Amino acid sequence: VWDNCLKFIKDNIQPQAYKTWFEPILAVKLTDNALSIQVPSKFFYEWLEEHYVKILKVSLTKELGEKAKLVYIIKMENTYGNKQPFTEKIPSSNRSGLKSQNVDIPLNNKSPELRNPFVIPGIRNVKIESQLNPNYSFENFLEGDSNRLARSAGLAVAAKPGGTSFNPLLIFGGVGLGKTHLAHAIGVDIKDKYPEKTVLYISAEKFTQQYIDSVKKNNRNDFIHFYQIIDVLIIDDVQFLTGKTGTQDVFFHIFNHLHQNGKQVILTSDKAPVDMQDIEQRLLSRFKWGLSAELQHPDFETRVSIVKNKLYRDGVEMPEDIIDYVAKNIKTNVRELEGAIISLIAQSSFNKKEITLDLARTIVEKFVKNTKREVSIDYIQKVVSDYFQMDIDTLQSKTRKRHIVQARQLAMFFAKKLTKASLASIGSQIGKRDHATVLHACKTVDNLSSTDKQFKKYVEDITKKLSV
Ligand code: ADP
Ligand code: MG
Repeated sequence: VWDNCLKFIKDNIQPQAYKTWFEPILAVKLTDNALSIQVPSKFFYEWLEEHYVKILKVSLTKELGEKAKLVYIIKMENTYGNKQPFTEKIPSSNRSGLKSQNVDIPLNNKSPELRNPFVIPGIRNVKIESQLNPNYSFENFLEGDSNRLARSAGLAVAAKPGGTSFNPLLIFGGVGLGKTHLAHAIGVDIKDKYPEKTVLYISAEKFTQQYIDSVKKNNRNDFIHFYQIIDVLIIDDVQFLTGKTGTQDVFFHIFNHLHQNGKQVILTSDKAPVDMQDIEQRLLSRFKWGLSAELQHPDFETRVSIVKNKLYRDGVEMPEDIIDYVAKNIKTNVRELEGAIISLIAQSSFNKKEITLDLARTIVEKFVKNTKREVSIDYIQKVVSDYFQMDIDTLQSKTRKRHIVQARQLAMFFAKKLTKASLASIGSQIGKRDHATVLHACKTVDNLSSTDKQFKKYVEDITKKLSV
C-alpha cells in the first residue's frame, strides 16, 4: 500500500522534496484502514502535516478508501538541535528492505514519543513564523527586585519548555513594565536552544481576529489544528479576551491540548488572574495551574541600569547626574523612561546642544505633564467605554439602556472630578447633553456608589485606570 502511495506522491511533487520528506519514512503496519508510518522526528511529522497532508490524504484514500487513516509513529529524538539531515538518520539504502523491516523494527522498546492515531486533518499550507523580535532578549531585559521572579521563571521555562511546573507561565503587570519584552525573550531563548521547536508569539487581539476570520471562512477546525501543533505558544495581553466567549472557548481547547501534550504556554496580562473579570472560570482556573509572576514598578537602581543599558546599546554617552535625574523622576513606566531618554538625545543632537540638567528638566516635565494631560474628557470617555466594552459612540448615544446610561454618567462624573471643565462643557463633549444632565449624573454616581456594591466597584476600577 505504502509503495503505491509513494509512487503516486513521487509523480506529483518535486524530486528533491520527495527525497527529503518521503524516502526516510518507513511503513510499519497496516490494520484495517489505518496505515502506520514511522517518521524520524516530531519536526518531520509536523512538516509532513503542514506541507503534504493533502497529497498524503489523496494517495491513501486511493489505496484504502474513504475511511483511510494515517498513524504516525515518531522515533525518539536523542538530542535536541541535532543538525544531521533527516535523510541520513535512516539511510535510503535501508529502504529497499522496507517490507522485511516492517516486521522487526524495534518500535516498542524505543518507546515512541507519540502514537496518536488520528484522522488526517484538513489542508494546511502555512509555514509557522515565530513572530519574535530578537531585540527583546533576556540579555537586554535588566534584572531587578521588581522583575526577579518573573525573569527567572522565564529563564527556567526557556531552559525546559513544557518541562517545568510553570505551565502556563503567566506574566502580569501594568503598562510599559516589560511584559511583551519578557514574553519575547523567553521565545527567543527557546528558539536559540531548540531550533526545531515551533514557537509562536501572538497578541490575544490578533488571535481573536484570526479566530473570527476562521469562523467566517468556515475553517475553524484548521484554526484549531494550526495551534495544536505548536510547541511553545505565547499569547500577549490575554485580558483582551475579556468578554469574548467564543475565543475563550477555542483557546480553552487549544490550551488543554497543548498542556496535555507537554507543550509550553506563556501568557501575559495587565491584571492578576484574580482581577480578571469576564473570563470564564474554567479558563481562569487553568491560568492558575502554572505560575503567575508579577512585573512590578522597577526601583531606582533598576531604572538607572535600564537607562544605562539603553544608552550603551545606542552608543550614546550621558552624564551620571542626568541619568539619575531622569531615573528619579520617571518611575512607573519603563516605556516612558526610554521615551524620555530618546527625546533627550534627539533634542540635544537636533539643537546641537549639550545634554544639560536644564534640558533634562524640560523634557522630564513634558513627560510628566504629558501623562497628566492624558486625563482629558476624551481620554475619560475612552477609558470608561473600554471598561464597559462599548465604543465611544455607544457611550454618547441617546439610548436609555441602563448599562449605557450608567457608563455615560460615570464618564460625566469623572470628567467633573478630574478636569477643570464646566458642567456645560462636559455635557457638550459627552454626547451633547446640557449642564443639568451632567449635574444629575454626578449626583447619581455619588448616590449609587454608596448604595450599590457593584457600582462602587466600577468607580474604584475606573479610578485606578485613570490614575496611571
Ligand atoms: P508591556 O508589554 O508590559 O506594556 P513592554 O514589554 O512593551 O511593556 O516594555 C516597554 C519598554 O520597556 C520596551 O521597550 C522594553 O524593552 C522596555 N523594558 C521593560 N522592562 C525592561 C527591563 N527590565 N530591562 C530593559 N528594558 C525593559
Ligand atoms: Mg505589551
